[in-house]
Amino acid sequence: MILDRVRFGPAGFPIDSPKERAFEYLRKIGLSGMEYQAVRRVPTNEKELKKLGEEAKENDILLTLHAPYAINLSAETEEKIKGSINRLLSAAKAAKAMGALHVTFHPGYYLKRSRNDALRVAISALRELREIMTSEGIDVELGPETMGKPSQLGSLDDVLEMAKSVEGVSPTIDFAHLHVRDGGIIKGEDDYRSILRRIEREIGDLNGLVVHFTEVEATSSGYGERMHHELGSGYGPDFHPLAKIIAENGLKWFIVSESPILERDSVKMKEIYESFLRGS
Ligand SMILES: [Zn+2]
Repeated sequence: MILDRVRFGPAGFPIDSPKERAFEYLRKIGLSGMEYQAVRRVPTNEKELKKLGEEAKENDILLTLHAPYAINLSAETEEKIKGSINRLLSAAKAAKAMGALHVTFHPGYYLKRSRNDALRVAISALRELREIMTSEGIDVELGPETMGKPSQLGSLDDVLEMAKSVEGVSPTIDFAHLHVRDGGIIKGEDDYRSILRRIEREIGDLNGLVVHFTEVEATSSGYGERMHHELGSGYGPDFHPLAKIIAENGLKWFIVSESPILERDSVKMKEIYESFLRGS
């Protein structure tokens, strides 16, 4: 999506403010974004969604939306895929009503399909969904997220292929998931750089990316996510090298904190980023 600058914000309403004053609070602590969580159900009251969107806008809080977890675009039956398309469509409608520009979603599972087959099925479902969205005038971006479990459709290559294949699709890059999916691959600046090179090679531009960030503990096998941790926990990945790259290259990203302390770590990420901007 088109961004005027780097924007930081939490995944969901802030923990340190009543919900009614969330956007005012986020602005007060220097943040400028929030990912609305519609992960269990999608709100449908247009009037309330509009009001929410207006309050966010008044406080210069840009919104994205996280679609329900119950989506599998590579499911085994046509019927289940249809259901997933419909849930994603209703998430896109809610996003439009609140003025959110990007809908993050979990693409699905490989199950018995080969990687290529799962990807082919998901891409065709996404094309079908985009057609419906276009005909209904729903112009929000769809963001397949990089996923943490190797059994999930959603490797970096998977989501880049979706973005390349379908108009209006741009990945949500979850660095914690990328980290644990392959056994803890992000150890420093070079690892971030190689991920970003792959993204740039496939989709051309690094600006406007929606990014999820938290430190993360892997499962005992070393693959897949056990739980999220606060910045500085030592589990990694470390935000500093990434912030350095963002600052040095003037990248404009929407950075969502998925840390257990949500917006408090958004503030920390912003401070780290600004310290690199100042060159200290
Ligand atoms: Zn997610």
